[in-house]
Amino acid sequence: MHFPISMALPARFAGPLPERCDVVVIGGGVIGVMTAWFLAERGLRVVVCEKGRVAGEQSSRNWGWIRQQGRDPAELPIMIESLRLWQGLAQSLRNPFSFRQTGVLYLANREESLARYEDWLCHARDQGLDSRMLGRRELAERLPGAADLWQGALFTASDAQAEPWAAVPALAAGAVERGVTIIEDCAVRAIDLEAGRVVGVATERGRIRAPEVVLAGGAWSSIFARAHGVDLPQLSVLASVAQTDPLPEVHPGAAADDEFAFRRREDGGYTIAGGSEHDFFIGPDAFRHFFKYRKAVKKDFLNTHYRWLAPRNYPDAWNTPRTWSKGAPTPFEAIRVLNPSPNLATLSRAAAAFGRAFPGVGRPRIRATWAGMIDTMPDVVPVIDRAPRLPGLTIATGMSGHGFGIGPGVGRVVADLVCGREVGHDLTRFRLSRFSDGSEIVLGPSL
Ligand SMILES: Cc1cc2nc3c(=O)[nH]c(=O)nc-3n(C[C@H](O)[C@H](O)[C@H](O)COP(=O)(O)OP(=O)(O)OC[C@H]3O[C@@H](n4cnc5c(N)ncnc54)[C@H](O)[C@@H]3O)c2cc1C
Repeated sequence: MHFPISMALPARFAGPLPERCDVVVIGGGVIGVMTAWFLAERGLRVVVCEKGRVAGEQSSRNWGWIRQQGRDPAELPIMIESLRLWQGLAQSLRNPFSFRQTGVLYLANREESLARYEDWLCHARDQGLDSRMLGRRELAERLPGAADLWQGALFTASDAQAEPWAAVPALAAGAVERGVTIIEDCAVRAIDLEAGRVVGVATERGRIRAPEVVLAGGAWSSIFARAHGVDLPQLSVLASVAQTDPLPEVHPGAAADDEFAFRRREDGGYTIAGGSEHDFFIGPDAFRHFFKYRKAVKKDFLNTHYRWLAPRNYPDAWNTPRTWSKGAPTPFEAIRVLNPSPNLATLSRAAAAFGRAFPGVGRPRIRATWAGMIDTMPDVVPVIDRAPRLPGLTIATGMSGHGFGIGPGVGRVVADLVCGREVGHDLTRFRLSRFSDGSEIVLGPSL
């Protein structure tokens, strides 16, 4: 598919590159854009540098789910705030991204899934969420015409969705209106340091002096951080997605079971995918971090297609340089927009599963396919922290497949972290040192 946000699009955000500012944000995905938005609201001069196009990578390729359901307990309060922020953003920007609260359903193929959902409900109750279990009968009423495949479901009516390729560019335009400078085609090559402290960045277009830098580089954050001596054990997995032709409505929101996931799109089709099925390219970082990922590998082994050799210049490809000099082109310029090929076999299985689940609709015709590289951490929760040994650097990355929905909330939190304000949430779970201080890896609840 010719993905809607690609280098074929002329740059919409073109600077100019200032000599100095208060904060440079690396990466124009949802995390970088929303961090910049809130920093500007706090009165700071902010520049977002994006090597390719705003939202060209994960932030436009995702499923578009804005869900509280199934979140790690430490993420939940930020996600609840994020949902409130989405409501306000949709209202103030006149909702060009079709934000709507249509609910999320986790459909249980097995008793064991039901038990897991029930276990998670205690977190929902603690936070006053409207999540609840649906029995077979209630589920049949909610999904009329569906085959009787599921034992029950977990449902959160207040969960939402938005069209991601429209959302993040609109949020970026809103940030610019609030005073943020966004520069596309502008890779940050390195952080400039003086006496061990951040004093700015070297970009491919020149230097910007700034006392604070935020790294929100998605799948590229790990190689960027490592080149500065910061060990960020992040890896990426390839997730494939399809868009169907318009079809009758089976559910207005989003749903998933063991075999497939779908979201009813604004255009009357569905965004569908293979549930938790994904591909993983084995590269040098996979070996380097294997020990930290052993729990995640064990849990996800059967859903993962392992592949040798990432395509050239991918973040963990064997040929990708791990060090470079500031004056020379970097890996970030070699791939402006990471546009992996989807796994069509996965998508074909997802389409078949959709057809079995909704026999009245049948197997959908696929209109378009694409894929994205999800940046993940060993425990499937992000890193949101000040870099321990690089004063002036804040890291907000590793959103682990669920950063779109929580993006506005994380942006607000990161902005306050940078400003030295009270962030209002406990960020202990998201500290970088959890991977090096001997802490046990505790997997987040990817239900
Ligand atoms: C297929 C798929 C489905 C998903 N479904 C959902 C979902 O339904 N709900 C949900 O909440 N989340 C979902 N996610 C996850 C979500 O999309 C991500 O967690 C989120 O978009 C991450 O945002 P980000 O800003 O951290 O990274 P990105 O969106 O990847 O942005 C990082 C940006 O940084 C830029 N960059 C990197 N290095 C440099 C550099 N040195 N200089 C300049 N720029 C640089 C990159 O070009 C990129 O544009 C999904 C992801 C995928 C791929």
